[in-house]
Amino acid sequence: MNTVSKVSVIGLGSMGTTLAQLYLSQGYQVTIWNRTPEKAAALVAQGAVLAPSPAAAVRASPAAVMCVYDYKAADAILALPDVAGSISGKLFLQLTTGSPQDARNAEAWAQQHGARYLDGAIQAGPSQMGQPDTPLLLSGAEASYREAEPLLKVLAGNVIYLGAKISAAAAMDLATLSYVYGAILGFLHGARVSEAEGFDVAQYGDIVNGIAPTFGAFLQHEGKVIRSGDFTITESPLRISVEATQRLLDTAKEAGINTEFPAFAAGLFQRADKAGLGGEELASMIKLLRA
Ligand code: NAP
Repeated sequence: MNTVSKVSVIGLGSMGTTLAQLYLSQGYQVTIWNRTPEKAAALVAQGAVLAPSPAAAVRASPAAVMCVYDYKAADAILALPDVAGSISGKLFLQLTTGSPQDARNAEAWAQQHGARYLDGAIQAGPSQMGQPDTPLLLSGAEASYREAEPLLKVLAGNVIYLGAKISAAAAMDLATLSYVYGAILGFLHGARVSEAEGFDVAQYGDIVNGIAPTFGAFLQHEGKVIRSGDFTITESPLRISVEATQRLLDTAKEAGINTEFPAFAAGLFQRADKAGLGGEELASMIKLLRA
């Protein structure tokens, strides 16, 4: 049985409902609150207690987990009567997605009112929660993290603790998001290349899926290169990408398809080449981005 046996969950959207369900399934006494109380009915039928206010939910358990749409929603709830007055001595786990500044502001608020604060970023959908490999980024004081570990493990088997700096989880989540959107835009341009050449786009998706683990390992290597500051070629000379992105652009022009993505990529790589980075490892592009 868990060390903390009571938990309150504030926010019952698709994610918050899943979090509350996971705690119920692990035998926790779960108190819940949501702006729209009707959404609590199924959880109440499963044994959760619906609090009449967020302050009452906070008071009901030693730990409160919040997961609402954004920090605007979170701030609106924290400003409701007596929430600030109820949170002293509590462990406050904020799982609403936000920015590094949101996390700093929330930690300051929690400290001002005597709560221990942790900031988390969920990197999975509701149906993927509670699995051994579910990723959850987390930051905040280590003692609070240790205290929260049993609560966190119910939600995600792969909790990545990023240290005491409270903005770390949000910053790392944003960095991951940047990677994801770069990949999505590249994928969609590739779909147009496939369509223009009359190939099966679903098969293209299969091929991309097949190279994903190798590509992930390559990016992991490039991260280590950036950290080391040594851009001697070890895997991929930047010059290859100058040519590859130019080929993408030329092909798009020939095919008469949208050129925005390859023009952006080819433009960056050309600038990097002009800056003398062509003979270095691909990751040396970071020097251009730092300038
Ligand atoms: P959702 O289904 O849209 O639910 C939003 C929740 O926020 C509801 O409980 C809603 O209350 C509440 N809310 C919105 N504005 C409010 C306000 N002004 N005052 C009080 N409550 C307010 O969102 P979700 O999918 O559960 O996502 C919750 C958080 O998890 C987000 O930060 C999201 O980025 C993160 N997340 C979600 C996923 C996912 O796939 N769903 C994945 C990773 C991370 P009402 O019910 O009263 O509207």
